[in-house]
Amino acid sequence: MTEAVNEEAGFRTSLKVTRAVREVHGEQTLVVFDNPSFGRVLTLDGAIQVTTGDEFVYHEMMSHVALFAHGAVRDVLVLGGGDGGVAREVLRHPVSRVTLVEIDRAVVDLMVSEMPSISRGAFDDPRLDLVIDDGARFVREAEAEFDAIIVDSPDPMGAGAALFTSAFYADCRRLLRPGGVMVCQSGMPFLTGGWFGGHAETLRGVFEDVAFFLSTVPSYTGGPMAHAFLSTDPSLKSVSEATLEKRAEGLGLATRYWTPAVHRAAFALPPYIADLVAPP
Ligand code: SAM
Repeated sequence: MTEAVNEEAGFRTSLKVTRAVREVHGEQTLVVFDNPSFGRVLTLDGAIQVTTGDEFVYHEMMSHVALFAHGAVRDVLVLGGGDGGVAREVLRHPVSRVTLVEIDRAVVDLMVSEMPSISRGAFDDPRLDLVIDDGARFVREAEAEFDAIIVDSPDPMGAGAALFTSAFYADCRRLLRPGGVMVCQSGMPFLTGGWFGGHAETLRGVFEDVAFFLSTVPSYTGGPMAHAFLSTDPSLKSVSEATLEKRAEGLGLATRYWTPAVHRAAFALPPYIADLVAPP
């Protein structure tokens, strides 16, 4: 058994290990193992990051909601995301460049060698620039502009904490082109209640328009996962299903979770979550 411990929330998730694959003890502790339900699993400092069984849910929603809402993304910045899953989905769009900033090279190496189905060619795509750096430092110093920024961070602990500050968001906002869109992994509202409300407040201090959408990632326990949807154009969060259909048709994308209808429905927050993020 291996356990993902969520100290804050006071619960543990135990997963049966049918095969221990690799452990890397560097900046972060990375463990890869096989499990009957989730396939191959990566944990980072004890927290489940990605599994081959259900990664499509998270990576499709972190990528296609932003790119189909915008409709004409050319330059994308991915912060975190060293497993390559978000980059893989983004590169299925006719984008010009994807800059992926991952702090720990060991994550990329481990994923390419032990969980190659997740990045599936992303790292070989000539449109991808892989930068090994702290995402917070990268955006502080960057000059380039992006149409979409995707923050595929772990939860706000360890190195990931730097990707949840208002200074970080202000730097991202500076790099976003007019009409640009940003999506951030925003945890499980049921477990992070108070923090989640503060997170929304921090975002509202930086972005003109702050919305959230939900996805159901089986290996992320605690109910639906929230994704922050930030834009300089308030209309982007409510792009119609018909427009999404048209944009998706053009691309002929076969997805297993994202559809235009799921995209639209994902923005419908149940009251217990909507109340957490309602402006004070
Ligand atoms: N889907 C996962 C989740 O929701 O928790 C995230 C997966 S992805 C593997 C998270 C990545 O962010 C890890 O590879 C980690 O090394 C990277 N990371 C953490 N802090 C970072 C930082 N400050 N700058 C860039 N990458 C960072």
